[in-house]
Amino acid sequence: MATVLLVEDDDHVRQAFLRELRDLGHAVRSAARALDALRDAAANAPDVVVLDLGLPDLDGGEALKMLRAVSDVPVIVATARDGEAEIIRLLQSGADDYLVKPFSANHLHARIEAVLRRTRTEPRRQALVVGELNIDLDRRQAKLRGDVLQLARLEFDMLAFLARNAGRVVTRRELLSEVWRQPYGDDQTIDVHLSWLRRKMGERSTAPRYLHTVRGVGVMLTAPE
Ligand code: CA
Repeated sequence: MATVLLVEDDDHVRQAFLRELRDLGHAVRSAARALDALRDAAANAPDVVVLDLGLPDLDGGEALKMLRAVSDVPVIVATARDGEAEIIRLLQSGADDYLVKPFSANHLHARIEAVLRRTRTEPRRQALVVGELNIDLDRRQAKLRGDVLQLARLEFDMLAFLARNAGRVVTRRELLSEVWRQPYGDDQTIDVHLSWLRRKMGERSTAPRYLHTVRGVGVMLTAPE
């Protein structure tokens, strides 16, 4: 059983599939617009996405490309178009499987199971774990106590670099060169990003848990006692 994100703008179809997939034992969330689906996929990391290609706000192929930019979640595209060229193009741009409409919930269920069997046997993702902090490098997603942290790109890069060096003081110079890719830069930039990161992790510099500033030197990430 899987967490499924169902993207379908037709209310009637969406409701029917929601109900039937739940009856088949899946946890299902749904979205009627591509942008909502992208947001959901980034925030909640579903096991599989079922993506209708005819959506009101974005072309399905475009939506797939954007989804691929933020996540490598398995995607089954649901298409009314059965042109071979279209299907080949979608599989090449990152779809894992496709279904041509109309199809039954049982058929979709079988495809979901098949896609998950394939993807779950692949090697495990590269992850960094520090205490209750879990950083999925492939998916570029960090979770604290199971909750996804909404991090900007540089915040994620900084956290990942600190996690790779957990338990050691990382100097400002290292952060500038490894995260910002600038050997010389403004210390304030680091401070600002660090304070955002700290806030998103729910801690304060006066009462650090994971992020410890060492004055005049740098910062160290450690698991709390
Ligand atoms: Ca549609």
